[in-house]
Amino acid sequence: MKRLSAAFLLVSLIMLSACNHSNAESYTAYTTGMDTSASITVYGGGAADTDDCIKLFKELEKQLSVTDEGSAVYRLNTNGSVEASGDLQSLIDASNRFYLQTCGAFNPCIYPLVKLWGFTENKNKVPDSESISFAVQTVAGSALSVENCKAVLSDGAMVDFGGIAKGYTSEKMCAKLKENGVTAAIISLGGNIQTMGRKPNGTPWVVGINAPNGNGLVGTLALGEAAVVTSGSYIRNFTQNGKLYHHIIDPKTGYPVDNGLVSVTVVASDGVSADALATAFFVMGKEKALSVYESFGVEAVFITEDTVSVTKGLEQKFTPDESIEGVYKIELLD
Ligand code: ADP
Ligand code: MG
Repeated sequence: MKRLSAAFLLVSLIMLSACNHSNAESYTAYTTGMDTSASITVYGGGAADTDDCIKLFKELEKQLSVTDEGSAVYRLNTNGSVEASGDLQSLIDASNRFYLQTCGAFNPCIYPLVKLWGFTENKNKVPDSESISFAVQTVAGSALSVENCKAVLSDGAMVDFGGIAKGYTSEKMCAKLKENGVTAAIISLGGNIQTMGRKPNGTPWVVGINAPNGNGLVGTLALGEAAVVTSGSYIRNFTQNGKLYHHIIDPKTGYPVDNGLVSVTVVASDGVSADALATAFFVMGKEKALSVYESFGVEAVFITEDTVSVTKGLEQKFTPDESIEGVYKIELLD
């Protein structure tokens, strides 16, 4: 519920900015899926275009769900292999690439740990330490590949594209809209925003970054065509004995990441990189992420309990919200 309301807040803020700054006609459609709420706003298009996007969204959800018994991912996890569609092959390639490039911080075979913590079935509990150690070994030894057009998992491995699927989906939706001749659009899949083209009135897209404490926004980013993805410990979590446990898991320890970060937003030119890297940077922690972000050609905003840190490429694009004065310090990273 918490997750959905955060997503709705973000969507409504984006819609607000779309309405406020645009003179040209826009059309917006809403849907739900992939455990979030989604909105698609198109300029120079209409219901036929947003319907195409929603169809794509539902198709990808059907293929990629870890819990739907009919999905390709479910069958892959159950049988160890499945016929790989083009989408599945692309996701496997991208996931394996980010697994290597982030030294395992992003791990597509994280599912044994996610399941153990009860995040997919909403049966949250702190697992016993033996089960965690066992799952950590499984995750570390897992391999995911494509062989003869089949997706193949090593023994005991289980995949979960939850950290990359929405970025991939928003990219595919954008490509579909371009194919349809739509010249400008903004797609929001929960914490995943993708903008396309330029708004007809020439103003930049304005994307809000939620305050992890639930009080509105920490600020906004004024951007051209970009993907903006946030991973946060406030998005999906539970509390046991007064301690908060959330859904981004360190594959090396098996526990939810606990490094002082409460959210990481990545701005990239494509949705897959933004999504995978938001998860990976959250796992790495601010210091490590800062040493590598430039090599990925992305920018980022790191938020801790009391500081909002913005990489230098976003200096001119980020406007802090006045409500954060006295709550968060702003730090420019250069
Ligand atoms: P959200 O799903 O809230 O948009 P993320 O993109 O950060 O946020 O993805 C978190 C999801 O990714 C988790 O719910 C889980 O399915 C999966 N996940 C958790 N930890 C990792 C990890 N270290 N690497 C890859 N995927 C992860
Ligand atoms: Mg992600």
